[in-house]
Amino acid sequence: AREISRFSHLIKRFAHNEAVFQGAKHGSFYQQSVPVTNPFDKDPFMQRYVKVAFGNKSAELAAIQLDLSRLGNRIATDVHELALDCERQPPTLEQFDCWGRRIDRIHTSHAWKSMKTFSAEEGFIALAYPSPSNGGGVVSNGRLHQMLKNLLYAPSSGLYGCPLAMTDGAAKTLRLLDERGGSGQTGCLSEAYDRLTTRDPKRFWTSGQWMTERGGGSDVGDGTETVAVPQDDGTYRLYGFKWFSSATDSDMTLALARVVPNGSGGAPTPGSRGLSLFFIRVRSPDNPDQLNGIQVVRLKNKLGTRQLPTAELLLDGCRARLIGEPRRGVAEISTMLQITRLHNAVHAAGALRRFSQLCRDHARQRTAFGNRISEYPLHVRGLSDLEVHSRAACLFAMNYAAALGRTESRLLPRGDGADAAAGEDDQQLVRLLSPLLKLFTAKQAVRQAQEAMEMFGGVGYVEESGIPGMLRDANVLPIWEGTTNVLSLDLLRALHKSRGAALPALQRSLESACSVAGSAPSVLGLSAPVDRLRASYRRVLTVAAAVPADRLTHAAREFAYSLSRLHCGAQLLQFAAATGHSADAAAARRWCLASDFDQFVRVVGGHQDGAAAEDLLCAEEERRVVFEDESA
Ligand SMILES: Cc1cc2nc3c(=O)[nH]c(=O)nc-3n(C[C@H](O)[C@H](O)[C@H](O)COP(=O)(O)OP(=O)(O)OC[C@H]3O[C@@H](n4cnc5c(N)ncnc54)[C@H](O)[C@@H]3O)c2cc1C
Repeated sequence: AREISRFSHLIKRFAHNEAVFQGAKHGSFYQQSVPVTNPFDKDPFMQRYVKVAFGNKSAELAAIQLDLSRLGNRIATDVHELALDCERQPPTLEQFDCWGRRIDRIHTSHAWKSMKTFSAEEGFIALAYPSPSNGGGVVSNGRLHQMLKNLLYAPSSGLYGCPLAMTDGAAKTLRLLDERGGSGQTGCLSEAYDRLTTRDPKRFWTSGQWMTERGGGSDVGDGTETVAVPQDDGTYRLYGFKWFSSATDSDMTLALARVVPNGSGGAPTPGSRGLSLFFIRVRSPDNPDQLNGIQVVRLKNKLGTRQLPTAELLLDGCRARLIGEPRRGVAEISTMLQITRLHNAVHAAGALRRFSQLCRDHARQRTAFGNRISEYPLHVRGLSDLEVHSRAACLFAMNYAAALGRTESRLLPRGDGADAAAGEDDQQLVRLLSPLLKLFTAKQAVRQAQEAMEMFGGVGYVEESGIPGMLRDANVLPIWEGTTNVLSLDLLRALHKSRGAALPALQRSLESACSVAGSAPSVLGLSAPVDRLRASYRRVLTVAAAVPADRLTHAAREFAYSLSRLHCGAQLLQFAAATGHSADAAAARRWCLASDFDQFVRVVGGHQDGAAAEDLLCAEEERRVVFEDESA
C-alpha cells in the first residue's frame, strides 16, 4: 500500500495518458532545499551555553541573548545571501590602465564591501576592547561576547572572518605595545588602534599580516628576505617579496622585515633574531588608489577562500614604521598569532555547527527506501558524531575565549588565595591550549566537512548546494596560521617555556571537570565517562613526563591530539553537569567513551612491550618506507 501511495501521482498521470517525462516535464518530485536558519534561536545547545557562561549576571545575560538573537536573524535573512555573493563574485586584479600605467587595483564585490560595514556595526572587533561606552575599561566578558558573535557569523561571512581575524590580532598587538609603552603610540598608531576597534563603519579599518615569503611561512626566521632601510625621518623603507598576503584590500598591515644597519655597511642579522615588526599603511592617506610602494604581482588561484584577495606583493620602497622592540619581531607578532589562531578555531567551530544544522535538517526531509533518512540508526550515528564534534569545538573555542578575556581584563583579584591561583592557571592554559585549539578544531572541520558532503548525497557535491564551497574553505584551516606539525611543536615549546607549570595547570583543570561531573546526578550517567577520562589523562601525563625529548618531538602530533581530546572531554562533561540536560550528557558520554585518548600512549609505547613501541615510532623505518631510493 505504501508503494502505491508513493507512486500514486504518477499512476494518475499514466491513467490520463500524460507521459511524466515528456517534453518540458521532468517529473514532479523535487528534494526540498535546506535553508540556513537563525544560528542562535534555532540552536538550543548554543542557548544553554550562553546561559551557563553568563548565568550569574542576569542583566548582562538578557542583553547578550537579545544581541545574539538579533544577529542570528540578520544572518539568516540577508547576510548569508551576501556571503554567497562574495563567492560568486571573487576579487579581480586590474594591473594596468588603458594608458599603460601600472595601477594594481583590486576590485572586490559590493557584498564583500558590505561585510566590512556590517562587521563594524556589529562590533566584531570592538566588543573585546575598551570603549567610552564601558568607561574605558574592558568588560569582563567582552572577549567571549565578541567570539560568540564571530562564531554565529563565521559560516556566513563569505570569508570576511579572515580580515577580521588579522584586524583583531593587530588591535591586540598595538594595545599591548601601548600598555608596555613600547610603541610610542602617537599619531598614526593611535589612530590605527582607534580605527581597528571602532563600531563606526565610516572610520573602521581592517589589517593584514604579512609574514610568509617564498623562503618560508612556517620558518619565517630563515625565510624572510625583506629588508628595512632606515630613513632620515625615523621611518623605514621596505624592500622584499611577500608571497601570501590575504585581504590585500585592507587599510593597514603588520609585517616582518630585517633592519639594514644604518650607514655601517653591515649585513642585517640573520634568523629570527634579526626580524622586527613594522606598521604599514597599505595605501596613501591622501589617495586611496595609490599603493604605498607596493606592487600587486598577482592574485593567487586557490582551491578555496576565493572570496578573499590573497596576493603576492612586491615591496618596493614601501614606507613603514618600526613598532615594538627592534629584532623582537617574532615575539611581538606572536600576540597577533594567538588571536588569529583563536579566530581560526571559531571559524572551524562555526562551520561544524552549520554542517550539523544543515545535515540534521536535510535528514528530516530526505526520504530513501520508504523512510526519512533520519529514521535510520546508521545515518543518525554519523549525524551524532558530527554534532558531538561540533559541540566539542564550540566549547573548546568559547571557553578558551572566556579564559583569554579573563586574562585580558585582569579582573581576577591579585594576591594569595584561590582566585590568584586560578588567574595563574588561566595564563598557563591560554598559552598551552592556543596551538591545540587551532590544530584540533581545524582537523575536525576538514574531516566533518567531507562527512557532511556525503550526508547530502549527490546534491552535496553540486556547487549550488553551498557544501562544496564550505568543504574547500575548511581545507585552509589546518594550513594558515601554522600547520598541524608546526603547532604540535609549538605545544612542546609552550611546555618547555612554562618550566613545568603548564601540565600541572592542565591536570588541575581536567581534574576539576572530572570532580564536578563526578558529583552530577547519577541519572546523567556521567560516572563511567568520568572514570575513563580520569584514567586516560593520568596515563597520558605520566607517559609524557617520562618519554625522552626526541621521542616526544617525534610523536608531537599524537601528543597534541590526545591532549585535545582529553580537554574537549573535560569541557563536555563540565557543561553537561552545569546544564543537567540529557542531550549534553549524551554528548559527553559519546565523546568520553569513544575517543582515542590513548593514541599518544600507544604510539610511544607507554603501556606496551618494548618491541611494539619500536614498531610504532621508528624514524628509521618511516624513512625507509618513504625514501626507498636512499637505501639503494
Ligand atoms: C589561502 C592562504 C592565505 C594565506 N594568507 C597569508 C597571509 O595573509 N599572511 C601570511 O603571512 N601568510 C599567509 N598564508 C601563508 C601560510 O601562513 C603558510 O602557507 C603556512 O604558514 C605554511 O607555511 P609554508 O607555506 O611555508 O609551508 P612550509 O613551511 O613549507 O611547510 C610544508 C610542510 O612542512 C611541514 N613542516 C615544516 N616545518 C616542519 C618541522 N619543523 N617539523 C615537521 N614538519 C614541518 C609543515 O607542517 C607542512 O606540512 C596564507 C596561506 C594560504 C593557503
